[in-house]
Amino acid sequence: KAAGRNTHCFYEAGMSALLASRNRLELDLRQAVSAGEFQLQYQPALDLGRRTVSGCEALVRWVHPRRGLIGPGEFIPLAEETGLIVPLGAWILHEACREAAAWPDALRVAVNVSAVQFERPGLEHNVAAALAVSGLAPNRLELEITESVLMRDSEAVIACLHRLRALGVRIALDDFGTGYSSLGYLRRFPFDRIKIDRSFISEIDARETAAIVRAIVSLGGDLGARITAEGVETPDQLNFVHRMGCQEMQGYLLSCPLPVPELRCFLARTPALERAA
Ligand code: C2E
Ligand code: MG
Ligand code: MG
Ligand code: MG
Repeated sequence: KAAGRNTHCFYEAGMSALLASRNRLELDLRQAVSAGEFQLQYQPALDLGRRTVSGCEALVRWVHPRRGLIGPGEFIPLAEETGLIVPLGAWILHEACREAAAWPDALRVAVNVSAVQFERPGLEHNVAAALAVSGLAPNRLELEITESVLMRDSEAVIACLHRLRALGVRIALDDFGTGYSSLGYLRRFPFDRIKIDRSFISEIDARETAAIVRAIVSLGGDLGARITAEGVETPDQLNFVHRMGCQEMQGYLLSCPLPVPELRCFLARTPALERAA
């Protein structure tokens, strides 16, 4: 009995510590959003056919005053739960478009959009405003969504995706293959791009993986979507995704996400880009 009570105490102490740290994080996040304590890093993607950098994906970091840089895995879920993703997402869209407007014309920018941003009104308005303010050509902006977006209220979401497409913006399906009824989603909306999840690329030695990747590439071709392999880390993986017919790759082998000054250096020393631009 005594042991039981002790266990109970530890449990409660643990829970309240957890709650306190979550509340602290939420308070910090709320302040960070109003103070604009965020930074976008950009991860380049390579067009395997043309051997040129074709675009960059914006990936958000929290520049925490005490803890330093915090990755999105640690605060995006909380930002979604609290609705803070709405103002944060609007900032990300504006910042990414503003930055990309200064890049060579051939480069697109990809922005991740959360399911919560689709549920609230204002996403289309924010996208249109980010394009208008930055002067970025709409076809240089690509929005990345995951299957979780389509799982919500599909009809409304698909209508919204069509209206975004009508603005000239492109739509990519991110982390493809990790959801439950992946193939079904591909028939519901004409995606411009499918990004094959990193988990497939890291397991290229398994024979089933090769079959799945080959199937996605072939399906993508039929549907008119371009295929990007995510998380390519080794030359073997690069050869594999190239042989499978993927049109683009992204991953540490080419570059990790870069802060703006480093991205500028990267683009400057990638001479093939000049021919593409
Ligand atoms: P994602 O959109 O699938 O982004 C790819 C993630 O994989 C990034 O992590 C990137 O740094 C990492 N990555 C890229 N290449 C490699 C590789 O070769 N190996 C390995 N191991 N990892 C690689 P990051 O930046 O931590 O972002 C994680 C996720 O957070 C993103 O996955 C995306 O779902 C979300 N996220 C990031 N930025 C935003 C944002 O601005 N808005 C929203 N709503 N979500 C975001
Ligand atoms: Mg993404
Ligand atoms: Mg992804
Ligand atoms: Mg992901």
